Amino acid sequence: VFIHLVNDHSLSLTDDERHYFEDEKEFKVVIKVDKEQLKSAAHDDIKLRNINSLTLDGNGGSSPTKDHKKNGVSDNESSSIAVVVGGVDDLIGLTHLHEPAILHALRLRYDSDIIYTSTGPILIAVNPFKPMPTLYQRNAMDLYRIQGNNKTKETRLSPHVYQTADDAYRQIRGESRIEDTTNPVDQSILVSGESGAGKTVTTKIVLDYFAMLSKKCTSSTDDNSNNNNNTTTTTPRKSWGGSVNQDVSIEQQVLQSNPILEAFGNARTIRNDNSSRFGKYIDIAFDHNGKLIGASIETYLLEKVRLIHPAEKERNYHIFYQFLSSATAQQRQEFFLTTKTAIDFRLLSDSGTFDRRDGVDDCQTHFEMLTAMKTIGFSEETISSLMRLISAILFAGNMSFTPSDDGESCKLDKTKSSLACAALLGITFDGLSTALTKRSIIAADETVLKLLTIEESGKACEALIKAVYGAAFDFIVEKVNTSLDRDPRATPGASGSAPSGGASIGVLDIFGFETFDYNSFEQLCINYTNEALQQQFNRYVFKLEQQEYEKEGILWKFIEFPDNQDVLNLIDVKHTGIMALLDEQCILPRSTDNKFTRYLYARCDRHPRFSASSAQRVDYLFSIEHYAGLVEYNTEGWLEKNKDQLPASAAELIKSSDFDLLLDINRFVRAEGSGAGRGTVATKSVSFQFAKQLRTLRSRIETTVPHYIRCLKPNDELCPDYFEPKNIVEQLRCGGVLEAVRVSRAGYPTRYPHDVFTARYYILGNRKDNGPAKNREDFLALDFPSRCAVAGLQLGRTKVFLRREAFDRIEAMRSEKF
Ligand code: ADP
Ligand code: MG
Repeated sequence: VFIHLVNDHSLSLTDDERHYFEDEKEFKVVIKVDKEQLKSAAHDDIKLRNINSLTLDGNGGSSPTKDHKKNGVSDNESSSIAVVVGGVDDLIGLTHLHEPAILHALRLRYDSDIIYTSTGPILIAVNPFKPMPTLYQRNAMDLYRIQGNNKTKETRLSPHVYQTADDAYRQIRGESRIEDTTNPVDQSILVSGESGAGKTVTTKIVLDYFAMLSKKCTSSTDDNSNNNNNTTTTTPRKSWGGSVNQDVSIEQQVLQSNPILEAFGNARTIRNDNSSRFGKYIDIAFDHNGKLIGASIETYLLEKVRLIHPAEKERNYHIFYQFLSSATAQQRQEFFLTTKTAIDFRLLSDSGTFDRRDGVDDCQTHFEMLTAMKTIGFSEETISSLMRLISAILFAGNMSFTPSDDGESCKLDKTKSSLACAALLGITFDGLSTALTKRSIIAADETVLKLLTIEESGKACEALIKAVYGAAFDFIVEKVNTSLDRDPRATPGASGSAPSGGASIGVLDIFGFETFDYNSFEQLCINYTNEALQQQFNRYVFKLEQQEYEKEGILWKFIEFPDNQDVLNLIDVKHTGIMALLDEQCILPRSTDNKFTRYLYARCDRHPRFSASSAQRVDYLFSIEHYAGLVEYNTEGWLEKNKDQLPASAAELIKSSDFDLLLDINRFVRAEGSGAGRGTVATKSVSFQFAKQLRTLRSRIETTVPHYIRCLKPNDELCPDYFEPKNIVEQLRCGGVLEAVRVSRAGYPTRYPHDVFTARYYILGNRKDNGPAKNREDFLALDFPSRCAVAGLQLGRTKVFLRREAFDRIEAMRSEKF
């Protein structure tokens, strides 16, 4: 084992010392070296940049002390060094990059509160589940910013979300792309991980960092330029609804979009007290000076089933609890809220869970959300209307139906709840009753009114709740977007002095790969997303590899890399993919989930990634071999989930409302038959719409330089200082980290700079007295390739590339010589 110390001194370990590395959990080593050896040795197996303490002991043998400040080797007569190692900053530097090695390194770092680690192009972030104030204080931001301004190898700080964000920012500013400074390229930061792993917190950290950079940029350009002043100072924002605070900076507004979306789109789940139940891509626009000028948000697949059935130990969306606990006396009166308690509303009481575990107060969050809405520019009237809608939904959940004697039909009970619901929605009780208990069927030229059973009416009511809430969410996202819309006047081009060349950085906070005991349509959509992103990831990593090979003049043509196009085809290919088959069944009048499943078996059975054993067929199950493993799906309820449409009669009802907000958000309601938008059921289906969104997202990412952050959850108990290796390995696999390593190591996994290679293997070379080769010529003079005659060794311009077998062979040769 070679150890690389911060100041480029390197050490070689004896077998005894090596033993510590291989068998001991903790890297505490006492290494005896003399000063000369310390100076001349070369390295490269393990980089010890995060040495927490390093003590020198002239007499040898003293125990290591923990001193975070001493980070280098002193010039004393050193004969013994004690190091406590924080592991490696970039795991790609490990010679043996396999599961146990990655796990071990992550664990070591986690134990010393080092939560960020690089693996080539990925930043791994392990959720600490405890406050890490020093990691995110202003001072830390400044360190990364200053390093970004003045990048030298020596000052490179440890991996951090700030580092990733900074890299992206430098690239749009053309600072790290010397060859092409005139044309900034868009960037993306793709954050993934399982629920509770820290994606949303990470996204906020990224946004905070950009906001800081943008503000800095304002002041620095103010200092430096004369003609750009009015374009780079805090830009007055366009208002929506006439209430925007003109003094609020765009940076602030971008940050403030979070509390709003979280109130309506986050909920307590068993995995996370503040779990985002939708995916989000936020594209942040910067102008030519690096000043943030706007943003746009795209959201994906809001979980609507939660509205009706929050699972046990989970909650409905935060907004309900927030509003109930914070409504003003006037609102209570206007919205018929005689009760304050969530227990009185079925949508909230069914799960039996009302509070958050993390101690966050619903009143406080509500207050923050209201502040954020005002900051962003929601008018008082809009805010009040949204709260009215929330109240209407709560009452809708309490409505009940009474079946007719023959059980063929039912009627809506006239209760406080149904009356309140109708009044709040701006419709009549009779209108509401008819819409939920009867269905008009258009057959040939006539419309037939069909009476609904109590079950069917219940479903119609649920569909209404989902449609109205979903539309309200879309409306909020639209409002936020209108507010954050990039303002063309803010670009420098407006001053006439510079081209308006800006660029954007997109940040994706999206559900990671999911595999539960019971996997449904939602999991298929989620895993489909992850397959698509994984494919882009593999291609990107492989492209980087290719570039490295080309730069070094290495033959790489015959290197294979894993591609999951076949899984994507299985799911989304036109006409024959699972999504297309589902859409096809959704159009057929009397289709059922079971019919769909049998159709699926018939059509997909021969696909190598698809399987459905005879035992699975009994329960209408099937499995897909995903890149992250085999997942079994249950097809119960897929037709309805995929249609997710409001019955035509309920859609007509909304149109008759005199409640302005409801009429406005009707644009977002997906209704059966005519209603919103044209097109068949298939083109309005959830899977069709989602696949379309995903295609757009993929092509958007395609036009950016991607940066990857994989969030890991060290335990399921959400507690600090507890690292469960099993969970981490699973997530490394699902997050594609191991796959990425496989791709990047597909060809020549081991590579050494010439000097490092010769230092390690000089004994196999021609001349042993020359010291490490500084360049290719030196290296050739040592005549390694012909003397070693190792197949799978290629000499690049600055590095030696070794295939796995070549590495093993040359290592064996080296051992023989010793
Ligand atoms: P996800 O979006 O992946 O579901 P979140 O980002 O909501 O997960 O994180 C879940 C919880 O984990 C947070 O509420 C917070 O308590 C904790 N957490 C996540 N990241 C960090 C961090 N960097 N530092 C401290 N706590 C964190
Ligand atoms: Mg989240």
